[in-house]
Amino acid sequence: MTRRDLLASTAAAGIPPPAAVVETEIVRLKLRHTWTTVMSSSEYRDTLHVRLRRDGITGTGEGAPIVRYQESAETARRAVEAVKEYLVQADPRHYQKVLGEVFRRIQGEWAAKAAIDIAVMDWAAQKMGVPLHSLFGLDARDAPVTTFSIGIDTPEITKQKVREAEPFPVLKIKVGLDSDEATIEAVRSVTRKPLRVDANEGWKSKEEAVRKIKWLETQGVELIEQPLAAHMLEEARWMRGKVNMPIFADEACLHAEDIPKVAGAFDGVNIKLDKCGGALEAYRMIQIARSLGLKVMLGCMISSSVTITAAAHLSPLVDYADLDGNLLIANDPYRGVTVRQGKLVLPEGPGLGLRRV
Ligand code: MG
Repeated sequence: MTRRDLLASTAAAGIPPPAAVVETEIVRLKLRHTWTTVMSSSEYRDTLHVRLRRDGITGTGEGAPIVRYQESAETARRAVEAVKEYLVQADPRHYQKVLGEVFRRIQGEWAAKAAIDIAVMDWAAQKMGVPLHSLFGLDARDAPVTTFSIGIDTPEITKQKVREAEPFPVLKIKVGLDSDEATIEAVRSVTRKPLRVDANEGWKSKEEAVRKIKWLETQGVELIEQPLAAHMLEEARWMRGKVNMPIFADEACLHAEDIPKVAGAFDGVNIKLDKCGGALEAYRMIQIARSLGLKVMLGCMISSSVTITAAAHLSPLVDYADLDGNLLIANDPYRGVTVRQGKLVLPEGPGLGLRRV
């Protein structure tokens, strides 16, 4: 039987030929330093990887589950498995349609959606023979500088981490505890670089936040991220009138519908593929944020070069990048975006442009 006959007979029987193979894998990423923020402390992170194979092309995706939103690598895997039958038959050239359907079928589980989105977008761009940023019409030369993040630690280890971050022209410092001033003083004892500071909802009252931000304004800090708990929007609005430093929403802005709620209370939003469900949704959120006059930062969770490279392909659109999650791990299975003198350098190959290492 020829292939044409086979296709004709399966079509006649109402059985569509299996078009693609979809695989999931939980990957344990080992951290270079124990990573501590206000929320957690850990030695490793598990992320979900998704591979979509079709027409001789493999699209690779990843999602980092966020514990705060009751996600784990295992729940993410189950969510992907639940739509596998659909993905195997769907045509990823129609990525808007396919991802729309995935979003309709999966409730929550944003890391799972991100892993699927990135695999589909990698596949689609490879199929078209263009790098992912070209699919969005972007110029790779517009990619910004990325910060390098320094987690919460003792003053001595903070100083050591800041010295190790020497190649990065801008640092992001995690605060949100009673030790904040000691942390910033430790950083300032070894560098004069511009700093961005992330409190991860750590400050308890608007008065404490204003006092700390006013002090940070004297310390060469460019912006502050999420000073208060995500739900404290009225306090955030009050605070914004009391300080000069731009204030960014991260935990207060997860999805597109949150953007109008934080406009007016914040100067900008931190958009992450793992929070919002992938590159296509992040692109949409960037446009919405811009339409409301907000500045945009692209951020990340701790993940491999898969997610970081996907986000980097959108970075020519944003004001600030905090895309260093892959640099914090010791066993990155891929190589993609690189950093030269702090600036993100996008791979030139089709799709994400990843290479397995
Ligand atoms: Mg943050």
